[in-house]
Amino acid sequence: MTRMKVAVLGLGIMGSGMARQLLAAGFEVAVWNRSADKAQPLADEGARIAASPADAGNGAAIVIAMLADDAVSRAVWTGEDGALAAMHEGAIALDSSTLTGGWVTELAALAEARGVRFLEAPVTGSRDQAAQGALRFLVGGAADVLEAARPVLDAMGSATVHLGPVGSGATVKLANNFLCGVQAASLAEALALFEKRGLNVEQAVSVLTEGAPASPLLKAVSRRMLDRAYDPHFFVPLMAKDLSYAGQALAEAGVPSAIAEAARKRFLDAAAAGHGEQDIASIIEPLR
Ligand code: NAP
Repeated sequence: MTRMKVAVLGLGIMGSGMARQLLAAGFEVAVWNRSADKAQPLADEGARIAASPADAGNGAAIVIAMLADDAVSRAVWTGEDGALAAMHEGAIALDSSTLTGGWVTELAALAEARGVRFLEAPVTGSRDQAAQGALRFLVGGAADVLEAARPVLDAMGSATVHLGPVGSGATVKLANNFLCGVQAASLAEALALFEKRGLNVEQAVSVLTEGAPASPLLKAVSRRMLDRAYDPHFFVPLMAKDLSYAGQALAEAGVPSAIAEAARKRFLDAAAAGHGEQDIASIIEPLR
């Protein structure tokens, strides 16, 4: 039986884990990353290293992007040597990056104009869930395209939610990260308060993580803040980006919001203080 050809564009924290799951599931995988060094470990596990997004996309049944933001997604799909122009008619372009609804809607139209089918499938879950094939896909797009892509999504994730047309996934993903960013920012302030008051910080934090404010995010990020463990699960500038996109989505919908921007300041301050290549837990450092 011929194996389905899949391409992965973007081998950062998330994309590398996703590509590895596709290899483990037996797909024929081509990978491309701007910084070529991140592709080699996947080549050692059986992936083909593509010379460009176009090279990756040529002949693939499904091309998956996992890239930083709107500008990078635009460049990799539609720029010079972009993937879209090289894809075959009927192939599926699937973007899992966290993007604005405006850009994914435009990208869907660009794909359609070329006869390429499109799905947005941003994810919840982080580094560990990507590495374990336990992501949750928040899908926007046509049901028949989702069914065609499902074997690939099932290899990388443990759940898929079909939210509606293209743009719906972005709306829910941005709301998800809006709440995560606000929780992390308020946790940083509360933990700094405990430290400045000279409390037993472990004990004080346990009141939060065992009480009403407890959430998976609060539990995980408070541990990393207490341990000063900043190896990246999710980079500080990417959360600043998500809060910016969430603020835009709220404004475009006419929902008054001061909260996304206030939380974003914590991430911008941390990036400016030199924590741009660390985990979001490091946003407490400027407050210390
Ligand atoms: P990451 O490790 O920083 O990876 C970002 C990817 O984008 C890398 O492949 C990077 O290439 C590429 N990139 C950045 N700038 C580029 C440019 N100018 N041209 C070409 N490629 C460029 O981030 P990540 O954590 O994997 O996140 C990827 C996406 O998933 C983001 O949209 C993020 O918001 C979202 N997300 C992340 C998490 C998480 O917990 N980490 C969870 C859900 C969703 P290089 O390697 O060359 O820099």
